[in-house]
This record gives sequence, C-alpha cells and structure tokens, in this order.
Amino acid sequence: MALIVQKFGGTSVGNSDRLKHVAKRVAQTKLDGHDVVVTVSAMGKTTNGLVSLMAEISNNPSPRELDMLLSTGEQVSVALLAQALQELGVPALSLTGWQAGIMTEPVHGNAPILRIDATRVRELLDQGFVVVLAGFQGVSESGAITTLGRGGSDTTAVAYAAALKADFCDIYTDVDGVYTADPRVVPEARMHDEISYDEMLELASLGAKVLHPRSVEYAKHVNLFLRVRSSFNLGTGTVIKGVDQLEKRNPVSGVAADLNQAKLAILSVPDQPGTAALLFSALAEAHIDVDMIIQSVQGESTNDIAFTVAESDLMRAKSVVYDIAQKIGASGVISDADIAKVSIVGAGMINHPGTAATMFSALAEAGINIQMISTSEIKVSCVIERSRAQDAAQAIHRAFALDQEIVPTFA
Ligand code: ADP
Ligand code: ASP
Ligand code: MG
Repeated sequence: MALIVQKFGGTSVGNSDRLKHVAKRVAQTKLDGHDVVVTVSAMGKTTNGLVSLMAEISNNPSPRELDMLLSTGEQVSVALLAQALQELGVPALSLTGWQAGIMTEPVHGNAPILRIDATRVRELLDQGFVVVLAGFQGVSESGAITTLGRGGSDTTAVAYAAALKADFCDIYTDVDGVYTADPRVVPEARMHDEISYDEMLELASLGAKVLHPRSVEYAKHVNLFLRVRSSFNLGTGTVIKGVDQLEKRNPVSGVAADLNQAKLAILSVPDQPGTAALLFSALAEAHIDVDMIIQSVQGESTNDIAFTVAESDLMRAKSVVYDIAQKIGASGVISDADIAKVSIVGAGMINHPGTAATMFSALAEAGINIQMISTSEIKVSCVIERSRAQDAAQAIHRAFALDQEIVPTFA
C-alpha cells in the first residue's frame, strides 16, 4: 500500500462530467489499496473569471481581498469532488488550505509556504478517508487567506506530498506529459519519458506552465518521485527526477516561451557607485522580480539600464522606476510590453559551446531580432518581439531537431 498525492488541474475538473471522471480515477486508486490525498484547481477558467470580476470593482484591489476572492475557486471544486467520491461509495472529505494546515508567509498573490501541519490529514487518512485538498491557497500566521501564485495548485500537491513523505506525486493535466516545447505552439514537440529536476525547474521558470516552478523546487529538495501525466488517458507521462539517473541525449531538452514579460529602461543614468543598488533595492522592496538586466555604456558619464519584469508587475514597476529616475537625475524612462522571452534549456549545454550560436542563427534565419540575451549553465534566453514568439519557438525547435529522439551531431 502506498501513500499517493494526486493533483488535477483546471481543465481536468472543467465541468461536472470531468469531475465525475476524476472521481472514478481517484476511487480506483483507493480501491487498489492506496491512501490518497487529491488536490484540485478551480474549475476551468474560474480563476481568470474571478480576476476579471475584481477588475470591475477596482483597478487596484487590495491584495488581501483579491486572495480571499481567488481562493473561492478551489473551494468549489473540492466540495464537488468530495461529493462525487461519496456518490461512488468512497469516504471523502474536502479541506481548505487553512484546514489542512498550510501556513504561508504573510505575502498576498505569491505566498511562499512556511510549514505544513499535516496532523488532521494524517488522522483522516488513518480513518480511511480520501482527503480532497484545495490547491493554490494557505493561511498566514495572522489568519489571512493567501494564494501561492497562478498555477500554484501544483505546489500545494508537491509540498503536501513532501510533508506526508508520500511515495509519489502525480500531476494530472490536459497534455500527456512534459514535452520539448508547448505542444500547442510547436505541434511536432516530443514528450519526454523523463527529465531532470534542474531542467524542469528552468523550463517552468521560463514559461512552460505545465508545472509551477516552486513545485519543482520542493520536489527536488526532498527527491520526490514526481510525474506529469494526462487525466484523459492512462499514459505513464513524464517522470521528473535527479540528473544522475538520466541518459544525456540532445544538449537541449526543451524550448519555452514566456509572453508575460515587459521591458523597462531608465535612460542616461549618472555613472556613479550606488545607482543600480538604489534602483533594484527599491524594486525588491516592492516585491517585483527583475529578470534580465543590461547596462549599456552610453557616454563618459552616463549609462542606460534596461531590465525585464513580469508584464503583470509593469504598472507597479513603472511607478517605482519613475521615482528613482527623478531622484538620481536620469533623463527618462521607457517601457515596452510588446515582448516575449524565448529560451532553450538543457543540462547537456555545458559541454556544447555552440548551442547559443545555433539558437541565434535560428532566430536570424527566421528574421527575428534579438533585443536582450541572458545565459546560465543550462539555459539561454532571448527577448524578442511578442508577435514572433510562436515562430521563434518553432524555428529553435527545428534547429535543434528536438522532434527526433537522438541528435548527437552538432557542436
Ligand atoms: P493545469 O490546469 O492542469 O494545471 P496548465 O494549463 O497549468 O494545466 O498546464 C498545462 C499546459 O501547459 C498545457 O496545456 C500546455 O499548453 C502547456 N505547456 C507549456 N509548455 C509545455 C511543455 N513543455 N510540455 C507540456 N505542456 C506545456
Ligand atoms: N486556480 C489557480 C490558477 O488558475 C491555481 C491553479 O490552477 O493551479 O492559477
Ligand atoms: Mg497549472
């Protein structure tokens, strides 16, 4: 008998028929003799709908009230799934994040999990219940409902699996597993049977939304056996595991595109110690994540500093940057939300110095201009015009022959 955490995403619980189908799958696992905790997302596009509803009331809602509202989506699906399981004769009980002891930092919209008190869930499992756990939500020490960031139900599932020392965690979604690129953008993308935690973490952080990045971090931390698979068929999906268990093939394991990006530039910044520190500390204080940073030498005594943020943070970032620009005597601020970041990821890149050049050539041949570049040991990212993101992903996928299983030939 194993202890299994399963997670079903929004599409998988998109209507009552799909919920009943999920209930049957969960019931089968229980019938096979396993203990099951099942985490679910809000139904379909419910969370987007709630965001829009709040926007009708305010264009600058209180983060606390927004979290209170967004957390309701998952409460609907847990109640319905628990009931659907009971209809099948399976004892099941729904719990909110708070009831399941998921304690987070007091940060709204993207709260890190501080700790999990799994006492109640363990008791329920011992009593034979399937525990149906609301994804995406927790509670701060002061009792405020928090959410874990968009796509955060994956993180609920993995963090709970870690807390329970579950045997494994299965993330059921609307694709068969993790592919070499988003299969909806690059139709010839190929499914990985397995991928390393590090590569998956990069892919997820760079826009492959199939897994929430923090879920991969938690899984890596405790070496959890994590699988992504389809809720619509019985395929075995993709296993995410430690790199030493993997055979290296293509130096690139995937292409990701992130359309939720925007670029800001602060112009003619006086060239003196402390200006970058001032700018980026102010952004950090506002909880704005900065990604690529480029400082270009402009004249003898001034520089331009350009950087990217999530588009959803652009308005807040702009107001921080305007203030700093005035303080330090910069000549102006410009912003551009019409960008996307395309990236390649692969642990094998370290030994293949030509990898970045292959990516740049693919973009050049497709007539796509590169605006910014950043690299690390296992990734290369380029900022490009947003309307070319799909072309870019397809061209890069082709250049690395990612649709083929074994590609040992390039530099
Ligand atoms: P869920 O609601 O189940 O959490 P998501 O929409 O969050 O599902 O994530 C699944 C989606 O991720 C897929 O439908 C697919 O379009 C997208 N995706 C992006 N990159 C990849 C990739 N490399 N492999 C698989 N799916 C990907
Ligand atoms: N419902 C939340 C969202 O849409 C969390 C999730 O689906 O994982 O972002
Ligand atoms: Mg998701």
